[in-house]
Amino acid sequence: MINSNDINKTHRILVVDDQEINRDVLGVILEDNYEMIYACDGAEALERIREYDCEISLLMLDLMMPVMDGFEVMRRMSADESMKNIPIIVLTAERSAELQALRMGAADFIAKPFDMHEVILARVGRIIELCDGRQLISAAEHDRLTGLYSRSFFYEYAQRLFAYHPELHFDAVTVNVEQFHLVNALNGREFGNKVLTTIADAVRSFLAGSEGIAARLEADRFYIFCLPCDDYAGLLDQFQKSVDAISENVNVHLRMGVKPYEEGVDPVALFDQARTACSRARGDYQLPLVVYDEKMRARELLHQRLLNDLNAAVAERQLTVYYQPKYNILCDPPRLSSAEALIRWKHPELGMISPGEFIPLLEGNGLIHVVDKFVWSEAVRQISEWKKKYNFSLPVSVNLSRSDVFDSTLVDRLARLVRDNGLEYGDLKLEVTESAYTDDANRLLEVIGKLRSLGFQIEMDDFGSGYSSLNMLSSMPIDVLKMDMKFVRNIENNETDRKLVSLILDIASYLKVPVVAEGVESEGQLEILRKAGCDLVQGYYFSRPVPAEEFESLIIKEINTKR
Ligand code: C2E
Ligand code: CA
Ligand code: CA
Repeated sequence: MINSNDINKTHRILVVDDQEINRDVLGVILEDNYEMIYACDGAEALERIREYDCEISLLMLDLMMPVMDGFEVMRRMSADESMKNIPIIVLTAERSAELQALRMGAADFIAKPFDMHEVILARVGRIIELCDGRQLISAAEHDRLTGLYSRSFFYEYAQRLFAYHPELHFDAVTVNVEQFHLVNALNGREFGNKVLTTIADAVRSFLAGSEGIAARLEADRFYIFCLPCDDYAGLLDQFQKSVDAISENVNVHLRMGVKPYEEGVDPVALFDQARTACSRARGDYQLPLVVYDEKMRARELLHQRLLNDLNAAVAERQLTVYYQPKYNILCDPPRLSSAEALIRWKHPELGMISPGEFIPLLEGNGLIHVVDKFVWSEAVRQISEWKKKYNFSLPVSVNLSRSDVFDSTLVDRLARLVRDNGLEYGDLKLEVTESAYTDDANRLLEVIGKLRSLGFQIEMDDFGSGYSSLNMLSSMPIDVLKMDMKFVRNIENNETDRKLVSLILDIASYLKVPVVAEGVESEGQLEILRKAGCDLVQGYYFSRPVPAEEFESLIIKEINTKR
C-alpha cells in the first residue's frame, strides 16, 4: 500500500470537474500526498495534459461536463499515443455510466457524492501504484499476450455487469488446452503462444458486438462470460478448428466447461462451477464439452463432506488397507510374488467409498499425504507381522502421489519406517504413476535416485497412460513397469491393444525390467499375456484387493505349494 511519507508528491493528479465544490473536496483529501492540478471541462483537461507533457500520474474525471464531457475526453485520450496510458478514475453519480466508462478503459470509479476520505485515498493510491513507473494500466487490465482481460479486472467487470444489468443472464464458460504444458514442452513456447493467441482471437470474434467479456488466466485457461449460447458444442468446434488450422502435424485438443446462469449465484461461484465442469471434460477422449449439472453439484457436496470427515476417518480408524496379490506367471502354477496396498474408506454413514472418488480429491487439495502416510506405516507394520508369523518375506508396494515426491522429508520418512520395523528396503516397493514423470522430471529423478540408492524398488504405475517419450524412458530409473489397465481390458478382441501390449513388453525388455499387467480378469487375458512374455499379473482373476486377514489365506496357500 502506498504510504504518504514516501510519496514526496512525486505524483501529479489532474482533477477534471465542472463543479468547484468537487474539485475542492478532492483537493483537500489528496493534496497532502500529491501535486494537484485542476480543469473545469474536458477541453481544458486536454490542454493541461499537453501543458504538462503528459507527465500526469492520474486523471480523475467527471463524466457530465459542459464544453466537452468525460466520455469524449476518454475517446480522445485513447486515440492519442502519449495520453492513452494515463490511468483514469471516473467520478460519477450515475452508476449505470460506470460500465460504459469501464469499457472505454477507466481504471476505477469513485461515486459522487464523495465517500469516506480514506477510501478515496486508498483507491487513488492503488491505481497509482498499479501504474507506477509508466507501467501501462492496460498491463493490469489486459493480458499482454492475448489482449484479453486479466483476472482481477475480469472479475470486477463481471461483478458490475451483474449488479447493473440484472436483466442480462450470463453463462460462465471456461476453455482449456489439454496438457498445455506438454504442448509447450514438445513444440516450443512460441508455438504454445500461437495456440493461445489463436484461441483468444476466436473468443474475441465470438463475443464481437455482444455484451460478453473474456479473460485469460493461468496460462491456458480462458474465461468467457457470455449471453446464453444454444450450441456450445458448435462453439467449441469453432475454437478447435481455428487451433487445428495453425497446428500442422500436432494435435492440440481443447476442452470446455459451461455453467449456465443461475439466479443468485455470483460470477466467482459460476466460474468455480464452470471450472469443475471443465476439469471433467477430456479434449482427447471424445468428451470435450461438459455442462455443470445436478450430478456434479451432488458430487461437489459429497467431496466437501469427505474433506470435512477426513480427520475423523483417520482418528476413528475408518481407513483400512486392503492388499491385492501380484502373481509371477512365468511359473507354472503362478506364484505369489508380492502385493499392492490399496486404501479403503469405510464411512460410517456413506458406506465404502472408492479411492477413485477420494484420492484425486485429496491429491487436488494437498491432503493426500495424510492417507499415504497412514498406508505406508500400516503396510510396513503388516509386512513385518507376516514376516514374523509365517517366516515368509512378501514385498508390498505402496502408492506414492505426485505431491509426496515434492515433500523433502519423503526419503527419510520411508527409510525410517523400514528400519524401525526391522525390514529390508526391498520389502517395501514404491509405485509412482507415469504422469508424475512428465510433471517435473528433474525433481522426480533426483528423489527416485536417492530412494533407489538406498535399495527401494520403484514401479512405474499406469504405464502407457502418460506421455513418456522413449527418450525419457531410457534415462528413467525404474525397476518395474506396470502396464496401464486399459491395454489389458480389450486385449482379447482388439488387435491394436495386443500390439500395444507387445510394444510395451519390448520397451520393458529394452530397459531390462519386468512388466506387471494390471486388471487381468479372465483366463483368456492371462493366456495372451503369458504368451506375450509378461512376467507378473495383478487382477480380479487371481484376487480382488482384500483385507489383511483374508490375504493371509493366499500366503498360507503359497507356503503350502512351496513345500
Ligand atoms: P492403481 O494404483 O492403478 O491401483 C489399481 C486399481 O485397480 C485398484 O483400484 C484395484 O482395485 C483395481 N483393480 C485391480 N485389479 C483389477 C481388475 O482385475 N479389474 C478392475 N476393473 N480393476 C482392478 P482401487 O483400489 O479402487 O484404487 C484406485 C486408484 O486409487 C489406484 O489405482 C491408485 O491410483 C489410487 N490409490 C489407491 N490406494 C492408494 C493409496 O494408498 N495412496 C495413493 N496415493 N493412491 C491410492
Ligand atoms: Ca498402483
Ligand atoms: Ca495402476
